[in-house]
Amino acid sequence: MPELPEVETVARELRRYLPGLRVGGVVCRYPRVVSTGIEAFQRALRGRTFIDIGRHGKYLFLSLSGEREVALHLRMTGQMLLLPRRQPPDGHCHLEILLSGADRKLVYRDVRKFGRLELLSGSRADFIRDRRLGPDALNLRAERLYDSLRRTRRCLKAALLDQRLLAGLGNIYTDEVLFRERLSPLCRSDSLSLRRVQSLALTIRAVLRAALRRRGTSISDYVDPGGRRGGYQFVLQAYGREGEACPRCGTAIVRSIVAGRGTWTCPRCQRSGAPHWTARGFGATVGGG
Ligand SMILES: [Zn+2]
Repeated sequence: MPELPEVETVARELRRYLPGLRVGGVVCRYPRVVSTGIEAFQRALRGRTFIDIGRHGKYLFLSLSGEREVALHLRMTGQMLLLPRRQPPDGHCHLEILLSGADRKLVYRDVRKFGRLELLSGSRADFIRDRRLGPDALNLRAERLYDSLRRTRRCLKAALLDQRLLAGLGNIYTDEVLFRERLSPLCRSDSLSLRRVQSLALTIRAVLRAALRRRGTSISDYVDPGGRRGGYQFVLQAYGREGEACPRCGTAIVRSIVAGRGTWTCPRCQRSGAPHWTARGFGATVGGG
């Protein structure tokens, strides 16, 4: 699933192309892809000009003239592509936004069909508040993260995946952050000191920036609007590396299930913060949601 670095890469590419271009029309082959209704969406966009592209967590925001704004979440396999205007769409292209006088068109493609576009009825700030999204993980402040973690007894991985607490991290980057911080994904969120959370916050931002420099992680479907894959999958240290040697200590990386998600850790390096109850055997199933 695209996480913050992938969505930010999409936003940056769209920002290089779309502003100033006018919507000539919207062609839709799968109306459910627009959760607020396709006809209102088509009416609202036609003739409008793209102004800017924003992002909060894993949401993309397309701002158009007339104070129109569209939110997009790519979910599992969504792709926002800039394709040559005459290129015929394949069976997974659900929505095309035609651009007057431009050599490309904006195409939403999604194999699993879980992604959604919606026309906002209020402001972007209202949308973020209504969805109860936490602060964006790239602009995270350690003190706020500490306050949020102190209020939950869930395990750390479950808390970091919760978009209401922190928006943008998903399964891949959470595992990479916890590995670098030598923290067990099972440690209780409210057990971390402020100093520990300050270090965690620095690592979250560092990992996300490093992934952004490599234009994200392409493990399954993720590509940028030009169809290019990211490069961070080549430098992952824990995620997906079951059985491979830990780059720090050589112990084999293990896969378990934490908070309902596949989780990769070094059993030797990542004992820090692990609660006592992992020794009693509840570990791998505690902390869902
Ligand atoms: Zn290790």
